[in-house]
Amino acid sequence: MIKIHQLRKTFGEIEVLKGVDIAVDEGQVAVLIGPSGCGKSTLLRCLNLLEQPTSGDIEVAGKRLSFTPSSRVPERHQAAFRARTGMVFQSFNLFPHMTVIENVASGPYLNGLKNKAESRELAARLLARVGLAEKADLYPAQISGGQGQRVAIARALALDPKVMLFDEPTSALDPELVGEVLEVMQSLANDGTTMIVVTHEMGFARNVASKVIFMEGGHVIETGAPGEVLRQPKSDRLRSFLSRVE
Ligand code: ADP
Ligand code: MG
Repeated sequence: MIKIHQLRKTFGEIEVLKGVDIAVDEGQVAVLIGPSGCGKSTLLRCLNLLEQPTSGDIEVAGKRLSFTPSSRVPERHQAAFRARTGMVFQSFNLFPHMTVIENVASGPYLNGLKNKAESRELAARLLARVGLAEKADLYPAQISGGQGQRVAIARALALDPKVMLFDEPTSALDPELVGEVLEVMQSLANDGTTMIVVTHEMGFARNVASKVIFMEGGHVIETGAPGEVLRQPKSDRLRSFLSRVE
């Protein structure tokens, strides 16, 4: 479902991604771990084309884009590609002047995917899926951070992405609100959603991940089933990382 081949990204003189290869099958949950600054967010942003990769190939659900330093992918190709991925960030940035249901319904409506009534119907269904049907008419300021992040997940799902990308979705939340967001993510996983999740929640990695990918310094260092990678790390670097986060 996702293939990343020799992906490189430089900012000025600094090479942040140094030839990354990753494959995620349909329905798999890949948990991406690694020290701060190793390039995890940059990798997700490249997959979503929030950043233009410097070189390499990315493929999502059968559509491939190749990048070279000298050529730019045309904007219309980028837009079509970007729609294949839904992204959820640490800071969920709901529109404060819209109700919860309007936040979810606005994407498909503004993108012309659905009319107003259909968008609202879809939004109501997705809010029920993340357990927030009864909060539909509240404003973001009236709900908790955990609920806000669940709305952000529903908002991303409303655009019917092929894969979901999560960049530290629980890192900004009070500890007692983390569980409800992880539960929603686990239920998406159970429903067969293909996802890449950057997180420090090792319990989630152990229980939900199909594979764990450890990055450091712009490289993938180790990848495999959580039982192997987390219990029997091969490299000293991963061993030392795990001893710091667990
Ligand atoms: P992680 O998410 O693993 O903490 P990031 O992908 O955010 O790491 O960052 C990797 C490196 O790239 C960091 O050194 C960061 O400073 C650098 N970086 C990220 N975005 C930019 C940017 N827009 N311009 C310059 N450097 C950046
Ligand atoms: Mg990051």
